[in-house]
Amino acid sequence: MTQAIQTLREPQVILKVAINTPLPQLFDYLPPTKRGPQPQPGQRVRVPFGRREQIGLLVDVTDTSAVAVEKLRAAAEIIDAEPVLDKELLALLNWATRYYQYPPGEVIAAALPTPLRKGAPAQAQPVFVWELTDAGHAVDLAALERKASVQAALLTALREVSPCGENELRETHAQWRKIISTLSDKGWVEQREIDVQLPATSAAAILDAPELTAGQAHAVDNISAVGFRASLLEGVTGSGKTEVYLQLIAKQLAAGRQSLVLVPEIGLTPQLVSRFRERIPGHIAVVHSGLTPTQRMNAWLSARSGEAVVIIGTRSAIFTPLLRPGLIVVDEEHDASFKQQDGFRYSARDLAVFRAKQLDIPVVLGSATPAFESLNHALAGRYEHLRLPERPGNAEQPVVHVIDLRHNALQEGLSQPFIQALRTHLESGGQALVYLNRRGFAPVLLCPDCGTTLECQQCDARLVLHQRRQHVSCHHCGHERPAPTQCTTCQKELVAVGLGTERLEQAMEKWFPEYPLVRLDRDTTRKRGELENLLEQIRTKQARILLGTQMLTKGHDFPDVSFVGIVDSDQGLFGTDFRSSERLAQSILQVAGRAGRGDRPGEVWIQSYYPEHPLLRKLLDEGYDGFAEQALAERAAAGWPPFSHLVLLRAECAQRDVLFRFLEQARRSADQLLSNDIRALGPATSPMERRSGRYRAQVLIQSANRHGLHSFLPAWRAALANLPDTRRTRWSLDVDPVELF
Ligand code: ADP
Ligand code: ZN
Repeated sequence: MTQAIQTLREPQVILKVAINTPLPQLFDYLPPTKRGPQPQPGQRVRVPFGRREQIGLLVDVTDTSAVAVEKLRAAAEIIDAEPVLDKELLALLNWATRYYQYPPGEVIAAALPTPLRKGAPAQAQPVFVWELTDAGHAVDLAALERKASVQAALLTALREVSPCGENELRETHAQWRKIISTLSDKGWVEQREIDVQLPATSAAAILDAPELTAGQAHAVDNISAVGFRASLLEGVTGSGKTEVYLQLIAKQLAAGRQSLVLVPEIGLTPQLVSRFRERIPGHIAVVHSGLTPTQRMNAWLSARSGEAVVIIGTRSAIFTPLLRPGLIVVDEEHDASFKQQDGFRYSARDLAVFRAKQLDIPVVLGSATPAFESLNHALAGRYEHLRLPERPGNAEQPVVHVIDLRHNALQEGLSQPFIQALRTHLESGGQALVYLNRRGFAPVLLCPDCGTTLECQQCDARLVLHQRRQHVSCHHCGHERPAPTQCTTCQKELVAVGLGTERLEQAMEKWFPEYPLVRLDRDTTRKRGELENLLEQIRTKQARILLGTQMLTKGHDFPDVSFVGIVDSDQGLFGTDFRSSERLAQSILQVAGRAGRGDRPGEVWIQSYYPEHPLLRKLLDEGYDGFAEQALAERAAAGWPPFSHLVLLRAECAQRDVLFRFLEQARRSADQLLSNDIRALGPATSPMERRSGRYRAQVLIQSANRHGLHSFLPAWRAALANLPDTRRTRWSLDVDPVELF
C-alpha cells in the first residue's frame, strides 16, 4: 500500500490535525465547507474520525497530502477564532513528539486542560463549591442511608468537610452532579461560586527581602542576564535557593515578564506557595493535580493571558502557555517526579531546558543534590555552575554521627545511642525527625514453623502487614485483604518480621509517651485535609517527634528540627539499578538537610551495618560533590548515563513465552537497524518479574551518540508496531528512563 506524495496543481489547503489516539501520525483534512475562522495552527477543530467526531488540534496547514484529495474528508468546524496553543508551545510539543517517540495527538492532549480537550470554549469558567444548609445538617443520616444511600454518602462527605468542591464530590459518586442537584432541590445543600483569584499581595511585601549573601547575590546577577542560559544552582538545603528564585522573579516582574516555577509536589509544600505569595505582588497561578479540571483550565488561561505573573506547578505545568515568558525555574531538579512514569514519558526538567532555549530566556535548575546529568553538564561547562556553600545567618550545617549496627543491638529497629540522642534533643526542647522509607507495620509475615511468607498472588512480592487496619496489602498492585493470623498449612501463629513506620510509631509512643508524635506517610495522609493538618501540628510545634517516609523530606522548612535520625541507611547501598547510589546519597542528604535550619544546631544520626562502605564514607567525609565525582567516574568507566543515553523497551504479558518471543523479535529488529555506536541489551526480565499477574521484561538500547540514537528510534518504533506479537503484549518506549525496570 504505497502512496506517492501528490502535489496538486491548484493550491489546495490541507489541514494536518493531531487527534487523541495512539496512532503515530497526524491526520489530513480539507477545510470545513461552511465558512468560519481562517485555519491557523494551534486552533482546535472538530473532525469526522471513523464513525464518530473527534476534537483535534490543527498542527499545520499545508498544500500536500499523502492521501488522494478525493479521499480526504472535510473538517466539521474550526472551534477557535484564535489559536489556543501558540507557535512556541506547538514547537515544543512537536519536538517532544519526536524526542519521546509518542503519538502527537496524545502529546497534545497531555498539554491541554481537560475542558479544552473536550471542546469547551477557551474562557475562564466559574468554580463552584457546595455547602450544607441548616436543614442539611439536621437530616437523619441513618434513616436516609436506608432509603437513598448515595444521597447519604454525599451528605456524609459534606459533613466531614464543607464546603466541598467537584473533585471531592466526584470521589463519592460518579453521578454526583445529579445527586447534588436533588439534594439542592430538597434544600439541604447550597451552591456557591468561589473566587478563583487568590488575593494578590501588596507591593510593600517585596521590601521584606533579606540582604543577600555574597553567593546569592552572585547567583542573582549571573542569572539575570538576558537570553538563554542554563544554570545549575547547587546549594545545600537551607542555603537560600528559594530566596534567589524570589529575587529573580521580582526582577522579571519589574520588567513585565512572567516566571514559570516547577516543583516536585505542591501538596507537600504548601509553605513554598505561601512564601511566594507573601513576597511577589500580583496574581500567582498554582497548577497541580488537586485542582478541578475547571480550576486547571482557569490557571492555564490566566498564564496565557499574562494575568498570572508567576505560575507554580508540578510536572505538567511545563506545558503552560506564557504571554511574556521571562524565566523558568526547576526546584529540586533531581526529583524523580519530574519524569512521567507512564504514557507520555517526558522529563519536565529536560523540557524546561529545551523550552528556555527556544524562548531564549534563562532557566535555573536548583538542588542541594543535583541529578548527575545536570551536574555533568555543569562540570563540562554547558551549564553555569552556581553554588551556595553556606547557610545564611546563624544556621550551621548539622553534625553527622554514624551508628555501627554490628556493635549495637536493636530494639524495634532502634539502637541505644540513637534513642539516647533522640531523648537528649527532645529534652532540650527541639523537634526530632525520624526517617524510615517503608510504610506499614512490617514488610514480612512469616510462619515460624515452615518458614513460609505471605506473598501476593499476582506479583513477585510479599504482602505488607498494616496492623491498625488489620489487613495485608501488596504495595505493587494494590491488592488488599484481611490479615490472616495463622499459617494455612501448619496453623502456627504468623509473626511480623521487619520494621515499617506504623510499627516504629508504636514503639516510639511507648518509649516517649510524653512527646506528641506525628507520622507522615501515604497511609496517614490518605484522607483529604490530613496532610495539611499534620503539617500544621509540626509547624505549631504541637508535635515533637516527626516520623515518616520520603514525604517528610521533600522541601519542608521545619526550623525547630534539631535531630534527624535515619533508621536504615542501607536500603540503597546494594541496589541493582546503576542509579541506586545516587538516589541513596540524595535521600540521605535531603533528610539530613532538615536538621538545624533555624537557630538550633542540628545533629544527624545514621544507623548502618556498613559504616565503612566506601560510598557512605565518601558522602559523609567529602559531601555530595566528592561523592558525585567518584560516582561519575564509575559511570564513565561503565558507560552509563550521563556518559551514554538510554532507551528502554518495556513489555508485559500474561504469557511468559509470548512476552519473550515479542522481545526477541524486537531485539532482532533493533540489530538490523543499529549503527555502530548503538547497542542493544536483552531481553532481560525485570527485577520484579511478575506484577498484577503479568510477566515483565525489557530490551535496553544504549548509545553515547544522541544523534544516532534518535535517528534509529523512529524506524525501530515503526518496526515494533508491526511485529507479529505486538498486539499480544503491552509495550512502551521510555526515552531517558529514570527507572531501569
Ligand atoms: P533553600 O531553598 O536553599 O532550602 P531558603 O531560601 O528556604 O533555602 O532559605 C532558608 C532559610 O534562610 C529561610 O528561612 C530563608 O528565609 C532564610 N534566608 C535565605 N536567604 C537569606 C539571607 N540572605 N539572609 C537571611 N536569611 C535568609
Ligand atoms: Zn501484588
